Amino acid sequence: MADRKVLLVTGGGRGIGAAVVRLAAARGWDVVLTYAGNAARAAETAAAAEAAGARALAIQADVGDPQAVAATFAQVRDRFGRLDALVNNAGITGPTSTLRESTDAMWETVFRTNVFGLAACCRAALAVLPPGGAIVNVSSRAAAIGGAGEWVHYAASKGAVDTLTIGLAKEAAAQGVRVNAVNPGLIETELHAAAGMPDRLSRLVGSIPMARGGQPEEAAEAVLWLLSDAASYVTGALLPVSGGR
Ligand code: NAP
Repeated sequence: MADRKVLLVTGGGRGIGAAVVRLAAARGWDVVLTYAGNAARAAETAAAAEAAGARALAIQADVGDPQAVAATFAQVRDRFGRLDALVNNAGITGPTSTLRESTDAMWETVFRTNVFGLAACCRAALAVLPPGGAIVNVSSRAAAIGGAGEWVHYAASKGAVDTLTIGLAKEAAAQGVRVNAVNPGLIETELHAAAGMPDRLSRLVGSIPMARGGQPEEAAEAVLWLLSDAASYVTGALLPVSGGR
């Protein structure tokens, strides 16, 4: 067990993050997952990882809270004594809104989680990741599409994630750490209903060239590939997982 690499997945209790945790456990990683408030789902995902042979630890930690981020990395150090890779998956859309009707509070909440929290996790990870380590940021196709009429505030936060990924990849290369992003399109998770649009996928399916939404496991496969040595010469990449959207 001691030679298993350790992966930290933010927002790993549900959705894409949970799919990453489960797949990583099956591929030989030990896993730490954070969650915001849904302890039951996080415990369920951690139990699934353990059933697949991994050591797993679920931590309640708001990624937008710098003290919680510091405490998370301290717990990883204390429990595992190493960290080999980070998946910055935790993300929120905030409510549906045009930019004109959006509020400062929406922008602040979404950017605190999706950008400031992600940057804080990158900083903390870079302090401990060994050569050969990797970071994968879960961005969104919204960064390129723009989120018009739904959530420009969210799309703009993911644009920041894309730019951070490109810049950080260049900085981290010197220490042998690769940094990439996955840009999911419309993936079947609870995110859409949480934003007040439970029918969003069926409404937008006509905009997807492959004519279907994606599964969380399909996004997780791309994340696991970018984490793996199979992607050893890939850094600064933004990989759409979007059925062509
Ligand atoms: P989801 O089903 O809503 O799950 C979100 C996960 O993130 C949950 O585990 C949640 O914890 C956690 N989380 C939320 N805010 C957090 C915070 N402040 N601190 C720590 N954890 C937090 O979302 P998803 O669809 O899997 O999305 C995952 C990522 O993919 C996000 O970055 C999202 O922007 C991106 N994405 C999703 C889609 C899509 O179509 N679904 C498309 C493009 C990009 P709790 O369980 O405790 O609430």
